[in-house]
Amino acid sequence: MNIVLMGLPGAGKGTQADKIVEKYGTPHISTGDMFRAAISEGTELGVKAKSYMDQGALVPDEVTIGIVRERLSKPDCEKGFLLDGFPRTVPQAEALDGLLSDLGRSIEYVLNVEVEKDELVARLTGRRICKECGTSYHLQFNPSKVEGKCDKDGGELYQRADDNPETVINRLEVNMTQTAPLLSYYDGKGVLTNIDGQQDIDKVFVDLDAILQKNN
Ligand code: AMP
Repeated sequence: MNIVLMGLPGAGKGTQADKIVEKYGTPHISTGDMFRAAISEGTELGVKAKSYMDQGALVPDEVTIGIVRERLSKPDCEKGFLLDGFPRTVPQAEALDGLLSDLGRSIEYVLNVEVEKDELVARLTGRRICKECGTSYHLQFNPSKVEGKCDKDGGELYQRADDNPETVINRLEVNMTQTAPLLSYYDGKGVLTNIDGQQDIDKVFVDLDAILQKNN
């Protein structure tokens, strides 16, 4: 299964991605996670990406496409993959199609998790993440049992640098402008399905999984 998971920041893509990986064992490729790992490791890629990410801007296409190309060429992607946060622009989608067609493959599912903007701002600014295991919490909607500590491993919870209110608004605007043409691009190819992301997490997965099951 070659899947692209779409949705604005805070739509719950990461949560749904975990559920897809758990059920199907598909490798989860998140460009945001790859950039954050590069930043914490202090690599050249991390240095390049950081200035863009801190402003909520997109990292330039040539950098982003390069890391995806490298990742998709790994053996674990041979049976399929789940892309999360990529592509974010039409040039990235075209580059991805080119890259896949060289391998005799194509994108089969584009699943777009839809959530309204006001709800996204509330979700993102209240989000807290475990430093140890990456589990997401929310100050109101999904608080940890002990304030500031992860339920799973007691790790310290932190706020992502780009989850502050000013950056969040910019990230959402940048993303909305960029993703509208991308949705049309995939709609035109007949692979796009919109999913209602304002339901319970489990119900969102039921809807999403129904699409994956339909053609398998
Ligand atoms: P995310 O974790 O997907 O919200 O991504 C966090 C940040 O990483 C974004 O605001 C961008 O700065 C950068 N980023 C992630 N994926 C991409 C992409 N496909 N193209 C450009 N920048 C990206």
